Amino acid sequence: MPCFICVQCGMQFAPSIDPPESCPICEDVRQFVRWDGQAWTTLDEMRRTHAARLENDHGLLGISSKPGFAIGQRALLVPTADGNILWDCSALIDDEIVGRISEMGGLSAICISHCHYYTTMIEWSDAFGGVPIYLHEDNRKWVQRDSKAVVYWSGEEFEISGSATLLRVPGHFAGGTILHWPQGAGGAGALLSGDILQVTQDRLFVSFMYSYPNYIPVNAKTVTRIGEIIEPLAFDRIYGAFWQRVIDSDAKAASRASVERYLRAIS
Ligand SMILES: [Zn+2]
Ligand SMILES: [Zn+2]
Repeated sequence: MPCFICVQCGMQFAPSIDPPESCPICEDVRQFVRWDGQAWTTLDEMRRTHAARLENDHGLLGISSKPGFAIGQRALLVPTADGNILWDCSALIDDEIVGRISEMGGLSAICISHCHYYTTMIEWSDAFGGVPIYLHEDNRKWVQRDSKAVVYWSGEEFEISGSATLLRVPGHFAGGTILHWPQGAGGAGALLSGDILQVTQDRLFVSFMYSYPNYIPVNAKTVTRIGEIIEPLAFDRIYGAFWQRVIDSDAKAASRASVERYLRAIS
């Protein structure tokens, strides 16, 4: 039985003979149903219609597809002393992608910020020997294809290894997660934030929204809390969700300024 993939958000669903009736992620107020109506594809189909896109993005291997697909995020390969972490996920996984990552040492873990980027995470885990997929417990309800590889963590922080820590950050999703990688940015530290902290187009700030496509902001209490979570972390760079959406340096000052700017704007 095929595992259908939502064309709009990239989520892959559990095996079924017929496509699901709808996509709960796209029907959620934070996303939207495709204007021409719900549509589905499969990974086999995608391997015919899309090719691998593998490019350096500020020192990390970025991974997505050509042409772009669904929300358009790129995954990142994070090399740590305890093995490579796949941060976020991209729907296409093919021989070229698996080959390149294998040459670089394979994967030891998969960590995903929230359900907009879960896509084909189970396929990725399977392709690399069943590596664990770390998701926050508070986002469990959005998982559409489960597996024993998925490890649900709870609380505010989760240490994947001595080299990387996941932190829960509220605002976009209750279980929204960022990755703190102290060895990133040449040892100054990096945050990988998906769109939990959304790197803005000028790449000088981050922003925070309950819904990006439907323009629903978050409240002052949430923005203040986000600032408190980031404050103790050492980092100089923030990798956002999309190609080249990176605050390359002084990202800690940028994130402080972003919190202050946001609070001014909504007060
Ligand atoms: Zn969807
Ligand atoms: Zn999102």
